[in-house]
Amino acid sequence: MAAGACASAPTMRPGVRVTNASTVQERLVAETRHWVRAVLLYRSKFSDCSACAVPNSHPNFDLLWDNVIAGPWGVAPLYSVSAAGSDLFLDFESNAESPQAFDVCVVGGGVVGLVTAWALAHSQLRVIVIEAGGLRDELRSQSLYETAEFTGLKNNGVTDGRFRVYGGTGTRWTAQLAPAELTAWPIKPHDLEPYFEKIGEMLGLGDTPFDASCYKILKRQPLDFDDDMFSVRFSKGLPWKKRNIGRYLKKAFEKSRDTTVLLHANAVEIILDEEDLSLVSAIRIRSYDGRERLITANDYILAAGAIEISRLLLASRNQMPQGVGNRYDNVGRWFMDHVCVRAGYIVPKDRKKLLQGIRPVYVGDVLHTPRFELTKAQSSCRTAFVHIVFEAHPVSAFSKLRTLFHDIQREGGKAMSRSPFWSILSDMPDVMAGFISHTALGLRPIPARSTPVVSLVCEQPPRRESRIFLADAIDAIGLPKIRVNWLVGEEEKTTLLALGRLFEQQLIKSKSGAIQWFAGFNPAGAAFPAEWAGWYHHIGGARMSVSPTDGVVDTDCRVHGVSNLYIVGSAVFPTSNCSHPTFTSMALALRLVAKLHGRRASA
Ligand SMILES: Cc1cc2nc3c(=O)[nH]c(=O)nc-3n(C[C@H](O)[C@H](O)[C@H](O)COP(=O)(O)OP(=O)(O)OC[C@H]3O[C@@H](n4cnc5c(N)ncnc54)[C@H](O)[C@@H]3O)c2cc1C
Repeated sequence: MAAGACASAPTMRPGVRVTNASTVQERLVAETRHWVRAVLLYRSKFSDCSACAVPNSHPNFDLLWDNVIAGPWGVAPLYSVSAAGSDLFLDFESNAESPQAFDVCVVGGGVVGLVTAWALAHSQLRVIVIEAGGLRDELRSQSLYETAEFTGLKNNGVTDGRFRVYGGTGTRWTAQLAPAELTAWPIKPHDLEPYFEKIGEMLGLGDTPFDASCYKILKRQPLDFDDDMFSVRFSKGLPWKKRNIGRYLKKAFEKSRDTTVLLHANAVEIILDEEDLSLVSAIRIRSYDGRERLITANDYILAAGAIEISRLLLASRNQMPQGVGNRYDNVGRWFMDHVCVRAGYIVPKDRKKLLQGIRPVYVGDVLHTPRFELTKAQSSCRTAFVHIVFEAHPVSAFSKLRTLFHDIQREGGKAMSRSPFWSILSDMPDVMAGFISHTALGLRPIPARSTPVVSLVCEQPPRRESRIFLADAIDAIGLPKIRVNWLVGEEEKTTLLALGRLFEQQLIKSKSGAIQWFAGFNPAGAAFPAEWAGWYHHIGGARMSVSPTDGVVDTDCRVHGVSNLYIVGSAVFPTSNCSHPTFTSMALALRLVAKLHGRRASA
């Protein structure tokens, strides 16, 4: 959009003006921010940002405000997202009388729920997003993710890798995006392709390919690996300013006017129609002080993350003792993660050659990172890939900057007021070299004191007994806690050992380097560390199947046997593939919205 197109200052929309600012000082700051932004928009200094596809917004304003104007003085409202000047947000704790009937109810305001709501915006449908958290981290909300018990292997991500706040785990993720291969899925790649494209457009990912042909566009030379051993696939990393999807999409929602995000509202029960148990009639929400209300809609979409979706379906047992959608005892089953071993580091033989093949490169502000996937012929049964990270020395300025950026992603301006300026300055030559290589050459900065660390990642086979159960213990709002039986087996171990051995073989063959394995891992001696780790990619629990006997949702993501209840996110993946899951989850969400529009149009 041309400069000047935003000549009208952002209008304040009628209705309740909700703000989280609790003190006079916070209110004052929130108001000042609103009017500074309004004046800047009025003077067209910050016109619509066509690049980021969010109307009437410019992410630079938020960054400028949070990080330069308000943050360093410690007076910014300390939220990752500000509610000031917005009637998008309603707080269930202070708005008991807010509207209750909607066209679509989305449960969960994390990455997938918000992308779903974004796709529904501007469709004249009244959409409510029910979000358990507030606009910033809160212990009372986060503590509801505590697990009662691990009966299989402990999956750290179940407690450390999920965030119960507006924006969800997107307030912390690294935002690497790559489409999953839909092996053994009841839908085919062409079913999702248009939606990958749409998400790519919305997030400004560009049209560079994900496969090895991208090297040519990046003007880089691939490593001389045998094609029948490894194929390269790139992931695309979102820039910092877009990683917190909640903050990024807020402007789009405000523009749509039909979206409401209800904060501090925990969905605790899916209520079925008394006369027709194949229809959801409401979602019961509960606040932290035990107040309840029913939210009604025509369609309900569960997007609360794989584990919470299982919990909510299983806990809704007042009308169906086995839980909603669980007639065949499939809810919570086939729980998976990506198994990851931080295995060793590369000792370069020819550093220049090595960096040509493995260094991440920017196209615009999107980082393209090559990953080395074992070809089907070599992998015993699962997909697996090598992921290389240049780990900076823990006391270097790069490590501190990285921590700072993570903090900004999570909490905005507050982070800057604690920024370690002096220690960053002390490493200035290294930082400047990184800055120049980034801005002039589009290369990802590599700190002088860094090591290319090799992580080996593989897919898990779906195991029916790997599952989420309800425990007897109850959490602070009265929902049963979960018990997790995460199963990992020999297949993953064999695949990761083969992956490590073949990758080292190819590095040596191509004369680019060798690997120094960390203690405990050695493919030659089949030594494997005792500790296994997941990769914070929770998958399954509500898998997609053609027949209700084999899964929980059909190929349209609709719960088998319940005509107006849908599930989006990695919960529905029937196989996990080794790719990062969220890009595929987002594409599934857009596909579902298109199906809903189709159904409404034909109705
Ligand atoms: C450190 C880290 C790095 C990661 N990096 C990547 C990556 O590079 N690429 C990738 O693809 N994935 C990555 N992931 C995983 C990714 O973050 C998740 O796959 C993604 O966030 C899932 O989105 P979601 O919306 O399904 O769940 P979430 O983002 O977790 O959102 C769920 C939302 O639902 C809300 N909620 C939960 N229960 C209820 C309830 N009962 N009522 C109302 N609301 C509820 C929560 O508050 C939350 O806002 C990473 C994860 C972590 C922890």
